[in-house]
Amino acid sequence: MNSTILIIEDNELNLELATALLEAAGFAVLQARCAEIGLRLARAALPDLILMDLSLPGIDGLAATRNLKADPAMHHVPVIALTVHSMRRDARIIADAGCDGYLTKPINTRTFPGQVRASLNKHAACLAEGAAA
Ligand code: MN
Repeated sequence: MNSTILIIEDNELNLELATALLEAAGFAVLQARCAEIGLRLARAALPDLILMDLSLPGIDGLAATRNLKADPAMHHVPVIALTVHSMRRDARIIADAGCDGYLTKPINTRTFPGQVRASLNKHAACLAEGAAA
């Protein structure tokens, strides 16, 4: 079965670009344009990975990530932040909120699907290690 990626992103162009790239790479994609809808969709659909824009109307991406990571039913779902910032300070804040990694916008259209795949694989390997221990 194809991996399902939930994209939570309020910028329409970014959302459609990421969706098109991931669908072309064989992923199933779910979309949310705000964290409130994204959180509901995440719990209903249990995606394999969530791409989380940090700057959202209403609840922001960091708060939404904290919400998911505090939920035993959701905390195993990897969350990759989408951020326009790439400073070391931001990487720390992103990690502290519980994100499993981040990708910097604008996304690189050639490498983006591979980066998402790598995040999925890394997480699967981590889970397998935990199960074996
Ligand atoms: Mn945004």
